[in-house]
Amino acid sequence: MSDEFFIQPKTYDTSTAYRASVLSNDRMTPEVAHEVRQIILRVPSASFIYVEGQSIGVLAPPPYDFGSDHYMRLYSIASTRSGENGKGAEIAICVRRCFYIDEVSGERYPGKCSNYLCDVRVGDQVRITGPYGRHFIVPRDNTSNLVMVGTGTGIAPFRAFLKHIFEEEAEWKGKVRLFYGAQTGLDLLYMNDLNNDIGHYYDMATFKAFEALSSRPAFDDPSALGNKIEENAAEVWELIQDPKTYVYVAGLRKSSEALDTALSHIAGSKEAWMRRKREIYFDDRWAEHLYD
Ligand SMILES: Cc1cc2nc3c(=O)[nH]c(=O)nc-3n(C[C@H](O)[C@H](O)[C@H](O)COP(=O)(O)OP(=O)(O)OC[C@H]3O[C@@H](n4cnc5c(N)ncnc54)[C@H](O)[C@@H]3O)c2cc1C
Repeated sequence: MSDEFFIQPKTYDTSTAYRASVLSNDRMTPEVAHEVRQIILRVPSASFIYVEGQSIGVLAPPPYDFGSDHYMRLYSIASTRSGENGKGAEIAICVRRCFYIDEVSGERYPGKCSNYLCDVRVGDQVRITGPYGRHFIVPRDNTSNLVMVGTGTGIAPFRAFLKHIFEEEAEWKGKVRLFYGAQTGLDLLYMNDLNNDIGHYYDMATFKAFEALSSRPAFDDPSALGNKIEENAAEVWELIQDPKTYVYVAGLRKSSEALDTALSHIAGSKEAWMRRKREIYFDDRWAEHLYD
């Protein structure tokens, strides 16, 4: 589905790098699920200032690809501006250990940056850049509605949003809706037995969370997320029509495609939905953090 009006930057300024020390590195998912780790970094620099929803660049150590002088990947900050556990200089990121299949040889290779991060030890130094992504932040007006749609590690910025609005803001009056897709219940980050940070907000009157688990647990199934959105079509569409609603989409690109498909059905056609999405985007109320 065409949405060329949405542009995600392809290059990032990496000229200022900070040395962060690793305070902890813990697995967030049980052994039988995909490996995702929460890494807490200490960034001892007064000039590193961020808000919820932004990401950092992590500079993996050499060797680099031929012709490159660095290797950088982005990771969303899962902490609020007050820092992890209220400690200003500390930030949490969640990292999924990634692999890719070489198209020529058919062999499976470890992703460079995610494997580097998943293997860091307490006390190690990690070079980071940023923060990036000023477009993916919570509006100041606490009567705004927030619709958050994500899969996998796309939950990281939403954990920061929810902590901020429910723990650091005086009172969030707008409606807050989270649609979160994962392969199995064990893959639900910050919503499982090992860490249930998001579950703590289920009692908030303005908050509703919808989990979308794959009907075929061995595969990623973005349609489960789309189905969950369509099951709640009336409320989602009412929110989408409201000029006080901000929409955020994070995680694998497939989650955005699933959202577009569901909203095209709800809107009556793909064209009708694309017209509406374009209006919301140009009104600065649509933000995406997507990766393939
Ligand atoms: C704005 C933004 C925010 C991001 N935030 C996070 C984050 O909070 N946590 C995180 O783990 N990643 C995040 N990513 C993805 C991250 O930047 C890297 O692309 C990822 O870690 C793979 O890098 P690599 O060097 O290990 O492997 P690469 O060699 O670059 O890629 C390995 C393979 O893994 C796939 N892949 C990449 N990321 C994921 C993922 N998260 N889940 C499933 N498959 C994936 C890729 O399609 C590729 O086939 C973000 C990306 C963007 C653009």
